[in-house]
Parts: sequence; C-alpha cells; structure tokens
Amino acid sequence: MGTSHSVTLDWEKCIGCTDCIKRCPTEAIRVRNSKAEITDNRCIDCGMCIRVCKSHAKKAMTDSFEKIHEYKYKVAIPAPTLYTQFKKIRDPNIILTALKKIGFDEVYEVARAAEIVTEYSRQIMEKGKTASPMISSACPAIVKLVEMRFPSLIPNVLPVISPKEASARYARQYLVKKGIPSEDIGIFFITPCAAKVTDSRYPHTFDHSEVDGIISIKDVYKLMLPIIKNMRPEEVEILQTSTSRGIGWAATGGEGLASKVYNHVAVDGIENVIEILERVENNKLDVEFVECLSCTNGCLGGPLTVENSFVATNRMSKVKKYINSLGKTRELDMYRDTINLDWQYSLKNKQVMKLDDDMTIALQKMERLEQIFETLPQIDCGSCGAPTCHALAEDIVQGNANIEDCIFMLREKVRDVAQNMVSLAGKMPPSIRHMENKK
Ligand code: SF4
Ligand code: SF4
Repeated sequence: MGTSHSVTLDWEKCIGCTDCIKRCPTEAIRVRNSKAEITDNRCIDCGMCIRVCKSHAKKAMTDSFEKIHEYKYKVAIPAPTLYTQFKKIRDPNIILTALKKIGFDEVYEVARAAEIVTEYSRQIMEKGKTASPMISSACPAIVKLVEMRFPSLIPNVLPVISPKEASARYARQYLVKKGIPSEDIGIFFITPCAAKVTDSRYPHTFDHSEVDGIISIKDVYKLMLPIIKNMRPEEVEILQTSTSRGIGWAATGGEGLASKVYNHVAVDGIENVIEILERVENNKLDVEFVECLSCTNGCLGGPLTVENSFVATNRMSKVKKYINSLGKTRELDMYRDTINLDWQYSLKNKQVMKLDDDMTIALQKMERLEQIFETLPQIDCGSCGAPTCHALAEDIVQGNANIEDCIFMLREKVRDVAQNMVSLAGKMPPSIRHMENKK
C-alpha cells in the first residue's frame, strides 16, 4: 500500500528497541514482529522518530541530488536554515554562489518569499479573517497536528501558503515570462525537515506544488563544503535578495518578530507545542499570534540539518548582524508580480483517535477499552510494542492486538495454564494411578 508520508522505516536497520514509540506525539508507531511500523493516518511527519532512533532506521524520503539533471533549467530555493550550517560563514552570497557552482542555474531565496508572506499574513490578521489567536501555518507538522489533535482550532490557522511554495511560484512565473518553457524548469527546495517534503509532495490545502524536487540540507552540504572552502572573494556573486527579517524565520520567534506582532507566543518542540495549543483550546492564552514549530529551535533544529541547532541559532544572529551591516541586497523584478498566496482548501478534522464513525459503536468500544485498560498493569513499559497501556487497550478494541501482547498478562496466563496442568495431573483416572503406584 502506498504512503503519503516522507518518513519511513528501513526494515533492515530496525532492531525493534521501542525507543521511538514513546516519543511519537501522535502515537503513530507500533513495534510488531520486532519492527517499528508507522500508522499512516496518524503520522504528521514531525521527524521525532528520525532523531531518536540510534540505529538510523527511520529516514525521510528526499530526492537525490542527481534528479536536478532531469531538467534543462535547474533552480534551487534554499531554506534560510542553510545559511547557518557552515562554520565561520556569515555572508549568504557565498552559500548561494556555492549552490550555483554545484549545478544550479539560478537560486531564489525562500527567505525573501517569507517577507512577502509576512506582509500578507499581517493584512489577514488586521482584517480579523481568522479566529483569535491566529496560529501560524509555517510548520506543516503543526498544521497536521491541529487537524488531528486540535480540530477545534482549525479556524485559527493562518490560511496562507508557505514561503517555500510562494518562492517556487514566483520563480516559475518569472522564468516562464523570460521565455523558458515551464517543462524545462526544475525547482528544488533545499529542506531542513521531513514535514516540508511531505507538504510539497502531497499538498492538501492546494492542488499542485510548483516544487519539482526536495533535497536535504545534509545532501547539498557534502557537495558545497569543499567549494565554499576554496571560494575566492572575487568569485562570490551578489545573489541575496532577502533581509534579516526573512532569514530570521528559520529560528523560533522569527516569524512573529518579522510580522511585528508583539503580543505573540513562539514555542518550539512538539511537547511544548501541544501544551500551548491545549491552553489556546481552553481559552487560557491571551495573545494575538501563536507561532508553533515542531523542532527544538525551529527549522534550525530540523532532522535533515548538519549543525547542532543551538550552534546554528548562535550563527543565525551573526548572519543577521552581517546582513544588517551590508544594508542593501539584490533587487529582483519577480517579486513585483503578484501570486496567489491563499490556500485553495480549508483544513479538515482528521481526528483519528476516535474509535468509530458510528457514535453508538464508538461508545461501546470506549466502554470495552476502559475495561481492558483496568486489567492492564498501567506502567506503560512499551514491551507490547504500543507506547502506553491505554494505546494497547485501544489496539485490542480495534482488533489490531491481543491481550497476550502484554507480557504481564501473558505471564499470568502461563501461570494459570501451569496450575491447571498440575491439577489435571492429580486427576488421573484410577487405572493409570494404580499403574503409577506399582512402579
Ligand atoms: S528506535 Fe524505533 S525504528 Fe529505531 S530501531 Fe528502535 S524500534 Fe526500530
Ligand atoms: S514522523 Fe513524527 S508523527 Fe510520524 S511516526 Fe515519526 S514521530 Fe510519529
């Protein structure tokens, strides 16, 4: 069966250790037959399991760099996180030039598109087009989390495409106007995370993504590093169009800062995000804007990056300072055009945690679930392959597991069977007992 996710399991590498099952925020993983299976409709591609698996058995399905050669005109749209990955490099122009040197014909910064998206989001907020507080839609994992765990907050989510998608739309429109056939253009997003891979391959708030391929920061880093090390100052092209406002989006709080909404909360790390969204749901957060990012330190902490996210955060402030000292950046006509930044489709309530579509059956299942849960040891040891005893009870009710999957229940059953055997042995027919006594 096909998957609409970019996070997958490498079966050969999985040793069934269960480390990942407890860290998945949506309880999407079960270890069955010693392998960690992902339940497709529960996964939000947050990448947490990639980070925690010491065996490197969880991976994000990005495109290989070779894919760029399928197109005559190759365009890179790098996430601003890329600017923080190289030691001692402050100037984004060096990094953008290196992208061209590894094989791209043009580079257009996602950071510049982020500035345009910021302006548009402000207008939406001022017009009161979303419920308050407005929740950022920048992190695709969080958007999916809202659909799955906080559907009551769907009206709060900013219905605007991501800077990545905006950047790709601007680039294609501009190049087609310059006379390059659209089919010759290959637009490649350089990504820090798996959620953005899924968002481009399987968009659900618009029909079609203008992104043709997604390459991880890790993969381009290997190619760029030797070029950056040997680049002479006169080789550096002036390619940067963004300011520190757009580049700052890569770090936690960057979007809020750029939009100048001072009464805002910026939160990162999926557990912290869940806590904040619970407060929003219960009307216990008096702010105008909530910026939620799945990874610690925002996109700088994405699982497909190279640098430690705290070091990258420090480097980000140096890059921003350097840019501010430069003052002016390259002007590109393409940003004078307009593109549609609105979502085509609204988010959907995807509460997968419900037990059945039929309310009566769901209630019956809930009652049974609680009965089973009461019999379980409730220590959430994970040895059954489910993250909690409650999750195992749910799996049993849904027909996906057995009570004997719990080792404590299995041990009780084995003890009962052994006791029954002993008592059966004592109930031998008199004829056999007589023969036994004769021995
Ligand atoms: S953490 Fe999960 S995916 Fe990695 S080896 Fe353990 S069970 Fe397998
Ligand atoms: S990517 Fe996130 S939601 Fe999906 S299985 Fe891994 S930890 Fe769970």
